[in-house]
Parts: sequence; C-alpha cells; structure tokens
Amino acid sequence: LPPLPEADGTLLDAPFTLPARRRLNSHKGSNGSAGVIGGAASMTGAALLTARAALLLGAGRVYAGLLDPAAPALDADYPELMLRDADQLPTVHALAVGPGMGRSPQAYAALQQALANPAPLVLDADALNLLAADADLQHRLAERASGSVVITPHPGEAATLLATDTASLQADRIASALALAERYQAIALLKGCGTVVATPDGRWWINASGNPGLGSAGMGDTLTGIIVALAAQSLPLLESTLLAAYLHGAAADAAVAHGQGPVGLTATEVMLSARRLLNRW
Ligand code: AMP
Ligand code: MG
Repeated sequence: LPPLPEADGTLLDAPFTLPARRRLNSHKGSNGSAGVIGGAASMTGAALLTARAALLLGAGRVYAGLLDPAAPALDADYPELMLRDADQLPTVHALAVGPGMGRSPQAYAALQQALANPAPLVLDADALNLLAADADLQHRLAERASGSVVITPHPGEAATLLATDTASLQADRIASALALAERYQAIALLKGCGTVVATPDGRWWINASGNPGLGSAGMGDTLTGIIVALAAQSLPLLESTLLAAYLHGAAADAAVAHGQGPVGLTATEVMLSARRLLNRW
C-alpha cells in the first residue's frame, strides 16, 4: 500500500491510490464480503442504499441484515444483494451498522452483537445515538482492538456523542473530531462541508472534495457503504475511511460537472459516479 497522506491538516485532494485493479484470478471470495445492519420499519431504504453502495464499490458479496420483520426479501433493482434478518448475517470481512436502524430493543441487541464481532466496523446513524446513550455499549466499544471501528456522525449525531450542542461542536470541527476519536477510542469521521477524519492518537485530515449537492437524504448511507466496501476488500480501516470520504465527495463533484446537481443530486447518482471514479483511478 502507498503511505497515508501526511496527517495534521493535509487536504485530501490528491489522495493515495487504491487497488482498483484486480488480479486476473480474483473472484467473489477474494473480493471480500460486506455486511450492513439496519433498515427498521419505514427505513429499509437507508440500509439498502448502504448495501448498494458496498456492491457498486466492489465488495465480492454484500449481505443486508434488515430489522423490519416486513422487509422485502429482495432488492428488486439490485437482486445481487442478499437480504437477511438482522440476526441472520453470516460472517463477513467488514460490517456497517446503523443506517435506518432505529433505536428499538432489537436495534440495541443487533449493535451489541456487532460490537462483539472482530471484523472492521463502521458505526453510523442510530448506532451512534444508541452508543451515546448507553454505558454498556461504550464499554464494549472500548474493549475492541484499536483501529477496528470508525464512527461517522453528522454534526447532530456528533453533538449527541459529545454531550454538547451542534453550534459548539461546529465552532471547532477539528477539535471536535479529535475529541470524538479520543472519547470513543475509534477513528472518527465528522461529516459536513470539509469532512474531518481524526484518530485516537491525534492525527487528523480534512477532506477537500464534495459540494452542497450532498445535502439530501441517503448521502451518508452511501458514504457508509463505500467505507465498508473498501474495508471488505482488505484496505485497512483508516485508509478505507479517508479514501471513501474523498471518493464520495469527488463523485458528487463529477456528477455536478455532468449537470446532475447540485440541485437534485441523488445518492444513487453519487454511488454510480463513485464507481466510475474508482475504476478510472
Ligand atoms: P448524512 O447527514 O448522514 O446523510 O450525511 C451527509 C453526507 O453528505 C456527509 O458525507 C456529508 O459530509 C456530506 N455533505 C453534506 N453537505 C455537504 C456540503 N455542503 N459539502 C460537502 N459535503 C456535504
Ligand atoms: Mg446519516
């Protein structure tokens, strides 16, 4: 792997490369499996967007564990996805928890179980709200191997995680990302214009790509899917996080350059654009 870009404020506008090329004899087994847990009733779309992004960004197999007991058995647009009950996921190489998950007892149990899973873990959305409110979950997170978890809050979720308000959190986004990483001993990705990635040992990066077209529902779910796809393909979790942040923004920038936004840009268009970028890397 090429080295990480220099820490402490390096703009991720010319990031390191990713193994987009594949060995001639690679196959779905060697391309890694990704799991997504989420999708409570009326929010299955969020988990499906994450799963679709994981598929489009190259995971060899993608499983979605959906909490909604009435969830569809199939994603009609992407029948490649393997939909299961949330407690029926097979072992995977990387796992994302939270999109559309809600905060029910079933969601709590699914998160508790995921924290015991040694696979690289992406915690997003309601997984973060559950985590912020529960000492036992925080304890389980603290017991994990360092560097094996990334938390991906937007400013509202980040404020909850740090028990502060959004305005204070946004006043110094770098300090806030560092505080999140330190407090939860995890890689922290603080979303927004100028996404900040920070590590518990005090390194941080600011992502330079992206635009206001990303301000619509499903964009965060898509980012989560990109991270879990790269991690499933064996890219270390910090590199996966940095590259995903860059790709996600750059995909939106390319879509806008093609007239697909910023007004009306969709998460689906962003993931298709990210796939194109990755294959032309
Ligand atoms: P979420 O709020 O979870 O749906 O996530 C929104 C995603 O879009 C995050 O990755 C944000 O960083 C990104 N995003 C939203 N608004 C902007 C913006 N104005 N500039 C750059 N990225 C943005
Ligand atoms: Mg979100």
